[in-house]
Amino acid sequence: MITRHFGIPVTSPGAILRRERDLGTPLGQETAEVLRSGGLVSDKIIIELIEDWLRLHGGHGFVFDGFPRTRPQAESLMSMLTKLRTALDLVIWLEVSEETVRDRITGRLQCGECGFTTSSSSAQFANRPVCPYCDGRLERRNDDDLGVLQTRLQEFHTKTEPLGAFYRKLSMLHRIDGNRDRDAVFTDISKLIEDKTAK
Ligand SMILES: [Zn+2]
Repeated sequence: MITRHFGIPVTSPGAILRRERDLGTPLGQETAEVLRSGGLVSDKIIIELIEDWLRLHGGHGFVFDGFPRTRPQAESLMSMLTKLRTALDLVIWLEVSEETVRDRITGRLQCGECGFTTSSSSAQFANRPVCPYCDGRLERRNDDDLGVLQTRLQEFHTKTEPLGAFYRKLSMLHRIDGNRDRDAVFTDISKLIEDKTAK
């Protein structure tokens, strides 16, 4: 939605890694197992992937979804941006309850071709699970089992939660209630981006 509305490219380490996996690269195969079990891929790998992506696509603004997720990732991002003489404009923290996470991962469908995600409860896709953008097959992500949820939550509490304090100290953090529907969340995020670009 951000790409369509603002023309800003969005990526996430998950999307980059799923592409690597589908291409059958050694990196993709190595990380697929970690993702399946709900663990976090090592900081070193994630940082390299993001650095490559920034070099190729980061010239005119960018949004990272699900990055940084750890303190070392956040620190590396700072030094990458310093090197590129680019400022970090916004850090958005989507606050989502465990219950919301549980509901969403049990009902999420994703396009195997372009990464478009939707919910399986969306009437539009219930009968014919085909991507509206590229006609790819919509399928459940295989790292979406409830079984891996516990591991993920633990990773979140130990590694990601401390980032809140890190960015708060830099006065960059904006918290948004993510337990609402897509449109409400998107409206709030849009306001933050518009405020930034208006300056
Ligand atoms: Zn698609």
